[in-house]
Amino acid sequence: MSPKNTRREFVTSALAGVTAGVMGNAFSSLPAPAMAQERIERQAQRPGVMPRELVGKVQTVLGVMDGKNLGITSCHEHILWDLSAIFREPDAARERGLAHQPVGMANLYWVRANPHSNVDNLVQTDEKLAIDELMPFKYAGGTTIVELTQNGMSRDPVGLTRVARATGLNIVMGSGYYIDRSHPRDMDSKTAEDIAREIVNDIAVGVGDTGIRSGIIGEIGCSAPLTNNERKVLRACAMAQRRTGAPVNIHPSMSDELVLEDIKILKDAGADLTRIAISHVDGFEYSRATRRKILEAGCYVSYDGFGQLVYHFRVMGRVLNGHSDIQRIDEIIQMIEEGHINKILIAQDYCFKACLAAYGGYGYAHILNNLVPFMRIRGMTEEKIHTLLVENARRFLEFAPAQA
Ligand SMILES: [Zn+2]
Repeated sequence: MSPKNTRREFVTSALAGVTAGVMGNAFSSLPAPAMAQERIERQAQRPGVMPRELVGKVQTVLGVMDGKNLGITSCHEHILWDLSAIFREPDAARERGLAHQPVGMANLYWVRANPHSNVDNLVQTDEKLAIDELMPFKYAGGTTIVELTQNGMSRDPVGLTRVARATGLNIVMGSGYYIDRSHPRDMDSKTAEDIAREIVNDIAVGVGDTGIRSGIIGEIGCSAPLTNNERKVLRACAMAQRRTGAPVNIHPSMSDELVLEDIKILKDAGADLTRIAISHVDGFEYSRATRRKILEAGCYVSYDGFGQLVYHFRVMGRVLNGHSDIQRIDEIIQMIEEGHINKILIAQDYCFKACLAAYGGYGYAHILNNLVPFMRIRGMTEEKIHTLLVENARRFLEFAPAQA
């Protein structure tokens, strides 16, 4: 199951000189190769013209690499984040006190039941803690993390390069916008074209002036019902996907009907649905019929709630994260039997501090240390486990040729 070769393999081109970090890293003293930088900026301004070197490759925060070296990948995680935009103030006076306490043993029982209502639980800005928490994933054989922290969640490109260097892990960074509540104030004035250009720029040139590039679009946030700005972002996401060939991850609407509407908007805007992952198909409690429809549309289904079984919370009258990890595994086995093994992604989507090992959670190595043995007990072959942990991620993350 372990990859034979996890060495990062950078392409040997002028582009690689840039993507390997010489220009992107705020801590580097080397200037960017001016010609390469100019060429990439020219390409980014011309929709549909992406650096050819990306096709069939994966783009991490430290550079472009060959997908065959990705190894064991967790397809939806957060490493450094501030999700306080989705904080929900409790109504009851006694709970308002708990909402503003640091996460600790004395309040963990309450934080787990009310994960969105404790400010500290929604924030992980400690780089040293991030490194300490990721090392067990590496020791367990993990090599790549897809980090989907977004605009509005304090995405930190430089922080991710530092964590990637310190841990030796490959980190693939996202681009785009999360749910409406986290959008910037000027979102109403942005057009879909503006947002598409931002995303293309993140992928082709780099985020802001960091030169550090995204390797995936997402997680793109969809509320239930969708807001006008979320519809606009979905259209922009489809446009940017056509111009870059990037994979896409969607945080879908929490409703069996509305998740299908999210997918329809993407399709109508020209997205390649076969390169789109629908997250939270386990935690959002979609029906079996809905999961089948998502697969029939061509999308990947992302079981990314592993390790979060302690959270059973209510949102809009729905019980979320009601699945245990074993139920998730059994459902995946059922979908494999129905012929969908190549469309299943797995992860832990830790975006609450209490998921981290230092705070009583299972930590990033949970799937590898605790659940792979259960997969074997349930009869999954090594080949199938390898497909879920390695091959599917590789196929999903490799860039396709640009379409528009
Ligand atoms: Zn997420």
